[in-house]
Amino acid sequence: MRGLMMDRPLLTTEILKHAVRNFRHTEIVTRTVEGPIHRYTVADSYKRICQLANALTAMGVKRGDRVGVIGWNTYRQFEMYYAVGGIGAVLHTVNPRLGPDNAAFVINHAEDDYLFFDTTFAPLVAAIRPQMKTVKAYFALTDRAHAPDIGVDVHVYENFIAEGAESFEWPEFDENTAVAMCYTSGTTGGPKGVLYSHRAIVIQTFACGLPIAIGCKEGDALLPIVPMFHVNAWNTPYTCMMVGVKQVFPGPKLDGESLFELLDSEKVDYSAGVPTVWLNLLQYVERTGKEFRYLKKGLCGGAALSEALIKGYERYGVELQQGWGMTEMSPLGTVNSLPKSILDKPQNERLPLQLKAGRAMPFVDMRIVDDAGEVLPHDGVTDGRLQVRGPWIIGSYYKAEKPTLTIDGWFDTGDVATIDPDGFMQITDRAKDVIKTGGEWVSSIDIENAALMHPGVANAAVIGVSHPKWQERPLLIVVKRDDADPSAEEIKEFLKPRLDKIAWPDAVEFVDELPLGATGKVLKTELRKKFKGYALPA
Ligand code: AMP
Repeated sequence: MRGLMMDRPLLTTEILKHAVRNFRHTEIVTRTVEGPIHRYTVADSYKRICQLANALTAMGVKRGDRVGVIGWNTYRQFEMYYAVGGIGAVLHTVNPRLGPDNAAFVINHAEDDYLFFDTTFAPLVAAIRPQMKTVKAYFALTDRAHAPDIGVDVHVYENFIAEGAESFEWPEFDENTAVAMCYTSGTTGGPKGVLYSHRAIVIQTFACGLPIAIGCKEGDALLPIVPMFHVNAWNTPYTCMMVGVKQVFPGPKLDGESLFELLDSEKVDYSAGVPTVWLNLLQYVERTGKEFRYLKKGLCGGAALSEALIKGYERYGVELQQGWGMTEMSPLGTVNSLPKSILDKPQNERLPLQLKAGRAMPFVDMRIVDDAGEVLPHDGVTDGRLQVRGPWIIGSYYKAEKPTLTIDGWFDTGDVATIDPDGFMQITDRAKDVIKTGGEWVSSIDIENAALMHPGVANAAVIGVSHPKWQERPLLIVVKRDDADPSAEEIKEFLKPRLDKIAWPDAVEFVDELPLGATGKVLKTELRKKFKGYALPA
């Protein structure tokens, strides 16, 4: 027997309408590309979102058209999220750090019809323009006074939307319609397109609003450091509107000092970003002796959260919480939210749990399998390839040439993990980063986390280098802190009591900085190239 309830589509426009009805005074603040702080309310944003929806419709943007955007986290890109998706078109957020060739590739692959960009990226747009196959018009996300001269007829966002009326009849359509798309960062092979549906985003937004996720609520302020081109800033532009949270967009300034200043002046309670940005911010406050007056909690995802970072922030009264997800998962998979009874325990008792990626969100199923595809136990010890399924997890890459899922309908994440009987998952490595030594697997993350505990180590990465007897052995690559000069031997000795013997790195090399990929994560592919043929000590 079928249920007899209304069948109303789950569209992102409903999140917008809900916010306007209930949180119209909530602020949205941006440090603009032009410089000054821009501040308005949800009610003000709604008028401009309607203006943009009207202007896009008048220009002929249709359902399913792709609208590309290369931009920073700002109120203008936020407006695009709701206006483009709301009229049934698809917002393609392009990662500017992909470099010109990959940016051109993804825009052509997605067949973007229009391209909006922040003025910072005018040189990039000028460089890729000759390769553009489908883009019909370009729009600079600024006003006339700041419009760039890139030698083409570039429309100006403020003039473009000024012509639109401040109200809009939002269409209704199938909830499975695509709302946004994002390409993977391409660290394994070329970038692959992920096409999010309204339904997936809306259901995920409900999950993001749960106390077991970030758990922020009306009256709080959140600053997404994670870019809007990195899986929709981890869904925060939707989540904040669903629960009435003030949004603070950092624009182009992501250095420690600028972030600290904005967190402080806007009284931000929550933030979200990858470990490298959390590390930069921590180093800034340590260097300057500043204190976080308002920041309570930070979501750290995209790469493993280290003990050094957890402890570092705890000294300032900030709880760093680990999350795990992927572009292919919209991105929310797990969040490590711990009950007070555990958080109140002494640090050494709760840290092992805090270092895990956390428990799965409702509707996200996780399993681990061996190389033959056999399902492995959730005993917290056995590790295997992590596979997932759920309503906001990819079913197929855009224009995929081969099936994206396993025969029985799971998505293989490419991560290696353990899952304990309480549901806590721990990423031990990317499958391709695991160091295979003498028939055993060693986690590069474990070695990195141990190295980061050394007071003289600012950042660390581990790769496997070939070894005649053991197949591979770990090489630890270290960036020293400005004020320290540890030797390789000293670091090796430091690691001995902290790691199993099999994981002791055979060598330590020092570099000035680690290569970072398009989303701020350490690029191990580059390190492998740099240290190709590296001769380990006998
Ligand atoms: P992306 O699609 O760029 O967001 O990258 C997703 C990948 O980042 C995952 O498959 C993991 O390899 C890695 N990742 C994300 N969160 C974590 C985490 N908490 N710990 C370790 N790796 C993570």
